[in-house]
Amino acid sequence: MATKPRLFIAQELRKDLEFFLTDTQAHYLCHVLRMAAGGFFLAFDGKNGEFECELSVCGKKQTSSKVLRQTRIFEKAPDIFLLFAPVKKDKTDFIIEKSTELGVSKIVPVITRRTISEKVKKERYICQAVEAAEQCRRLDVPAVEDVRTLEGVLKVWDENRLLYYMDETGNGRPAAEVFAEDAGKHLPSAVLVGPEGGFDEEELEFLRRQKYAKGVSLGKRILRAETAVAAALSCWQAICGDWK
Ligand code: SAM
Repeated sequence: MATKPRLFIAQELRKDLEFFLTDTQAHYLCHVLRMAAGGFFLAFDGKNGEFECELSVCGKKQTSSKVLRQTRIFEKAPDIFLLFAPVKKDKTDFIIEKSTELGVSKIVPVITRRTISEKVKKERYICQAVEAAEQCRRLDVPAVEDVRTLEGVLKVWDENRLLYYMDETGNGRPAAEVFAEDAGKHLPSAVLVGPEGGFDEEELEFLRRQKYAKGVSLGKRILRAETAVAAALSCWQAICGDWK
C-alpha cells in the first residue's frame, strides 16, 4: 500500500476541523502528486498526534481540507538537544535532516572559536526539519534556535540539562560507558559537536570544568562533524533514548 502523503500543519488539528493548506503544501498535493479533491493525506501538528485528512478543494486561490479521524495519539520525543557548529552547507543540511530523524527536540547552531561557516540560514533549517519530520513519521518537529556563540549558550545553560560534548582529543570517555551511566534516568540532555577544526583547548578546558558536561569519545577515528552528530545521537537513542 503506497504510504499516504504526510504534512506538518502549523495549527492545532482535531476531528471535523476544516483548514487551509499553505501554497507550498497545496502545490505539492495538487500539482506534484496530482491529488484530486477527495484524496486522503496524513497531517500532524506537533501537539495532538496524527490525523487522516481529506483534500476538499484544490482551488486556484485557496486549497482546503477536512480532518476525518485521528490515526495516532501524540507521543513526546525524548528531551535531547543538538548543539552543533555549522559546517559546509550540504553537510549542515545533512546534520539538520539526520538529527531530526534521530529524534532531537531542539537544534541549536553554535559558533565556536574555530567555526568557519558562520552563515546560518534558520529558515532553511526549519524547512529541512519539517520535511525530515514528515518523512520519518515523527509527530513533532524539532525547534530550531537562532545561532549564538557557544560561550553565550553556556552562559545561560540550564544546569539540570546534561551536556555531552564530543571530544575528539582522546580525553572523552567511551560513548557507551558515558551514556550507560544515565540510561533509564530520562534526564534532559544535549549533544554538542564541534566544527571541522574541532574545539579549541580553552573551549575544552571550560567544558571539562562544568559539572553538567561530560566529554564523550566516539572512538579512535576522527569523524567528520556530520558523522559525529549521527553517531552520537544514535548511540544516545540506543542507550538512553526511545530506541529501546
Ligand atoms: N579537530 C579534529 C581533527 O583532529 O582534525 C577534527 C574535528 S571533527 C572533524 C568535528 C567534531 O566532530 C569534533 O569537534 C568532535 O566534536 C566530533 N568528533 C569527531 N571525531 C570524534 C571522536 N572520535 N570522538 C569524539 N568526537 C568526535
